[in-house]
Amino acid sequence: MLTTRPRGTNDLLPEELDKWHYVESILHQVAALYGYQEIRTPIFEHTELFQRGVGENTDIVEKEMYTFLDRGERLLTLRPEATASTVRAFLEHKLYAGSLPVKLYYIGPMFRYDRPQAGRYRQFHQFGVEVFGAQDPSLDAEVIAMAMDIYQRLGLRNLVVELNSVGCPSCRKAHRQVLHEYLKEQLSGLCPTCQGRFERNPLRILDCKNERCQGLVANAPTIDAMLCEECRHHFQLVQEYLQELQVTYTLNPKLVRGLDYYTKTAFEIVAQGIGAQSSIGGGGRYDHLIEEIGGPSLPGIGYAMGIERIILTLEEQGIEFPHTAKSQVFIATLGDTAHKKGAKIAQDLRKAGLVVEQDYLGKGLKAQLKAANRLQVQTAVIIGEEELAKGEAVVRKMLEGSQEVVSLNELVPYLVKENKGGKQDE
Ligand code: AMP
Repeated sequence: MLTTRPRGTNDLLPEELDKWHYVESILHQVAALYGYQEIRTPIFEHTELFQRGVGENTDIVEKEMYTFLDRGERLLTLRPEATASTVRAFLEHKLYAGSLPVKLYYIGPMFRYDRPQAGRYRQFHQFGVEVFGAQDPSLDAEVIAMAMDIYQRLGLRNLVVELNSVGCPSCRKAHRQVLHEYLKEQLSGLCPTCQGRFERNPLRILDCKNERCQGLVANAPTIDAMLCEECRHHFQLVQEYLQELQVTYTLNPKLVRGLDYYTKTAFEIVAQGIGAQSSIGGGGRYDHLIEEIGGPSLPGIGYAMGIERIILTLEEQGIEFPHTAKSQVFIATLGDTAHKKGAKIAQDLRKAGLVVEQDYLGKGLKAQLKAANRLQVQTAVIIGEEELAKGEAVVRKMLEGSQEVVSLNELVPYLVKENKGGKQDE
């Protein structure tokens, strides 16, 4: 146990993190392009926030939350998603008092007691955006287009945007009634989870992944035919804007999504051919959530994408990640005095922007140069007792195999110039 991580969690090792840094840099970049500002909220919140903000009848709240009492007997939960937290922070800091809409984004770990498998973890990471205070259907289209823009910049292919409108409380009420009537007939054939959903949240039965349930609900009444005038008009405009932005989408009237708070637009982005966990992002509009959490009546819309799934999809689609900066200079020294001088030169070079490595194990010269080779540095600097006595260093260009002698006083400017003045991406 001591050397095993908890089930459903991952260690991100250095090589893996190079990919994460790359993906995260695109996320920060695109968020800025679309006018979003970053927000960081706590990893845990009062449990009540998620009960209210995600919904009592959702899978997340019913069976997936990591909830605990702290030493002061407060009931807390590790965040299973970040929309509720973002709304809470928006209200707590009265961000609605400034100009609207407020556009925020976040990146960070989420926690769900889910059944772990490839692409599904108990600690995973999401990037997400939230816009508070605007109803405009062009915004619904813009956030979907932004999500697609991110995937496309990363080079992902074969993505499908599935789109639906889940209506508002008034059209949903009418739909729920006819759906209830229909499902009553099918009840005995549904999976145990859906039997449980029947009274609490029948809408969720529509997008159950169980094949038998899918067969039974194939002809169930969907909400598209029952949208009220306002929701229908909004949905129509969202689609017109998507066409204008040249985002292709597929209508999926059974798309419901797991969270209780969605109104009108709901969407999911699916990567084809990557197996069971194919949803790489999703979101929707939530026009009553802010009020539900105790704030003013303001609409909202947002989405979240799973970073592990983005990276898995990039790998499965064979997309190359750019190489990150490698060490440029290796300082090889022989003897204590040279080692000390080497340490100072390494520090000066780093201050000048070069990526520098050196030996810390007291290895012989041959072994040090082997290490330099392994690191694929462009230049190795060799300082032995003899060079030190003459105030010089040997500079070896590793690729060419050529070397020259440079005065220690000139060494830093010389190496900076040789390595084109700074850290390079290869
Ligand atoms: P959700 O918050 O459930 O709408 O999920 C949004 C996105 O987060 C999904 O499309 C996935 O990419 C990702 N995601 C959700 N749950 C998990 C999980 N347990 N493990 C990894 N990624 C997840």
